[in-house]
Amino acid sequence: MNLQEIKINSNMWDVIDYVNDMFDEAISHNISDIHIEPTSEYILIRFRQDWEFILKDKLDAVNTSSLITRLKVLAQLKIDENKKPQDWKISYQSERLKQKIDIRLSTLPTNYWEKVALRVLKQDASLTDLEKLWFLDTNLAKIKWVLESKYWIILMAGPTGSGKSTTLFWLLKHFDPLKYNISTLEDPIEYDIDFVNQSQIKPEIWYTFASGLRSLVRQDPDIIMVWEIRDLETSKLSIEAALTGHLVLSTIHTNSASATIQRLTNMDIEPFLIASALKMVISQRLVKKICPHCKAIHNVDENIKNKIKEELADIIDPDEVDQIDFYKWTWCEECNWTWYKWRMWVHEVLVLDEALEKSILSKAPAQEIEKIARGEWMTTIVQDAILKAAMWETTVEEALKLG
Ligand SMILES: [Zn+2]
Repeated sequence: MNLQEIKINSNMWDVIDYVNDMFDEAISHNISDIHIEPTSEYILIRFRQDWEFILKDKLDAVNTSSLITRLKVLAQLKIDENKKPQDWKISYQSERLKQKIDIRLSTLPTNYWEKVALRVLKQDASLTDLEKLWFLDTNLAKIKWVLESKYWIILMAGPTGSGKSTTLFWLLKHFDPLKYNISTLEDPIEYDIDFVNQSQIKPEIWYTFASGLRSLVRQDPDIIMVWEIRDLETSKLSIEAALTGHLVLSTIHTNSASATIQRLTNMDIEPFLIASALKMVISQRLVKKICPHCKAIHNVDENIKNKIKEELADIIDPDEVDQIDFYKWTWCEECNWTWYKWRMWVHEVLVLDEALEKSILSKAPAQEIEKIARGEWMTTIVQDAILKAAMWETTVEEALKLG
């Protein structure tokens, strides 16, 4: 796209109206991020929707100062500070949409003024929407069963950007905050939840996940959510908290449930501590979702069909795989001729039982842990994705990419 060809909209008559309109549009179109990018001649305003950028506006550079000042005022940031990055949250009340929404603002000094990035935070209500998390019924049942007991560790595993925190919050929402003391250590605080004690860690003043956890256990908590287990100290403290009668929820940067267990063992934590404290690992990834408006049956070639049979061998009879119809997109206006406009999650839910505990005690490698878990009816991420392809939600090609 040639920047010069894009029309300038220099009619920012009123900066307050302009910002309100921009926020309203972002909220009603499900925009996740707004980028305000000053250049020498223009300010570009770009929206990110489902991982794609949409150019929203190109304003004359004379508007830079007033636009950025307005945003800083809303976020209660220092207006005259433009040499250092700043961030804070805007509580935006839309008169037109009759909605209140939080928007996280962060500034970064650049060679032209400051770049501003805004993250439109999902509302609390969307966190309770089970359907949106796309768990298979069998996995949902396992999760609910594990949440009944409140004295162990539950870990969310996945790479960066796989939406671990959304699922973690959904788990947290399972508990009535008025019946328990729920406390969190976060970085950053993304969603406000009423009656949950949310604390932002600040490593620059030595308020880390580890030091925070030490203070938190003295606060008589029932449920503790630690944003991320990154190091030995945090993992040891989390295990200690679980073994002294707390439910601990956290995330870890690993690619599968079984790899998570191996990762903890590699961190030099005593296997018996892992075996007695860890109860469930949910691993998740994002896959492209087929456009519901233009999906149609497609013939999967023999090669792919054989791979599916191989992947599903322990749960579905190969002959049955031949009976399944798989779908694909055909392109349409609704998906802007990009079938992957939407994404969805696929999961694997590993619940520890006696056999798995034994494998942890013997420091079994990830492959062996996975083999045992599959023997106890854990569907792997690839299987979960193929099953969702069989339910016409995604494509088999997309599912097999995860293997
Ligand atoms: Zn379509």
